[in-house]
Amino acid sequence: MRLKVLGAYGASDAEHNLTGYLIDDWLAVDAGTLTSKLSLAQQARIQAVFITHSHADHIRDLPHLIHNRFSQNSGALTIFAARDVMDLLQKNIFNGIVWPDFSVLDSPFTKKPVVQYRPLATGKRTIFGEVALTAVAVDHQIPAAGVIVELNGQSMVFTGDTGPTVEIWKRTNKTPNVVAVVTEASFPNDQQALADETAHLSPQTFGDELKKITVDAPVYASHRKIPFERDIESQIKNLRDRRARVLLEKNYTL
Ligand SMILES: [Zn+2]
Ligand SMILES: [Zn+2]
Repeated sequence: MRLKVLGAYGASDAEHNLTGYLIDDWLAVDAGTLTSKLSLAQQARIQAVFITHSHADHIRDLPHLIHNRFSQNSGALTIFAARDVMDLLQKNIFNGIVWPDFSVLDSPFTKKPVVQYRPLATGKRTIFGEVALTAVAVDHQIPAAGVIVELNGQSMVFTGDTGPTVEIWKRTNKTPNVVAVVTEASFPNDQQALADETAHLSPQTFGDELKKITVDAPVYASHRKIPFERDIESQIKNLRDRRARVLLEKNYTL
């Protein structure tokens, strides 16, 4: 699998981008950064986006991706999210006030809507073309679910934002051929109280989560807050677990 990390931070400035990942050029996980880093032609190749939760840093580019699809003669886009996450997106974003509900508007080209919402029951494996997606609830401040992606005999796990959690690691440990796990470390260890309060991880609690993961694959810390990125990086290194890595904004081949 190819993983293009478009954004690996929990904040943005000129050199750091909000959470957004692209797998094999057609399947996205989170949409903090998609349109801002992809050409219209690259955007047209995206067939599906899985959204972990409705916080703005994970959905910023989604309205624009949908709108660009409406303006192009390209295939439909499927938005996946756990059912409770999808309810929040429909109620609060695609509500005709913040953004139109493009799932009920016909494209001028195809005379059909350009987007469809596919709410997922958590824990249930769903097949979409050649990929299997399993949404698994995690522990954040609001409804949130990570996803296990199985494609071409390889699996990747994305937690999205989470504090200490359990269920997604149980599923990860039972998933065949996991080649990468992407989770988070938002705050440095000296801000552990803030990390706990906001349901995020620090390198210290990232290390505790690592102990729950039995698969031998790199486990990446994403979603660093910009001012603390160096501290977080050195604290991840100090965990002395060879699986522990910091996620960089680059292309990975797994
Ligand atoms: Zn976030
Ligand atoms: Zn969040």
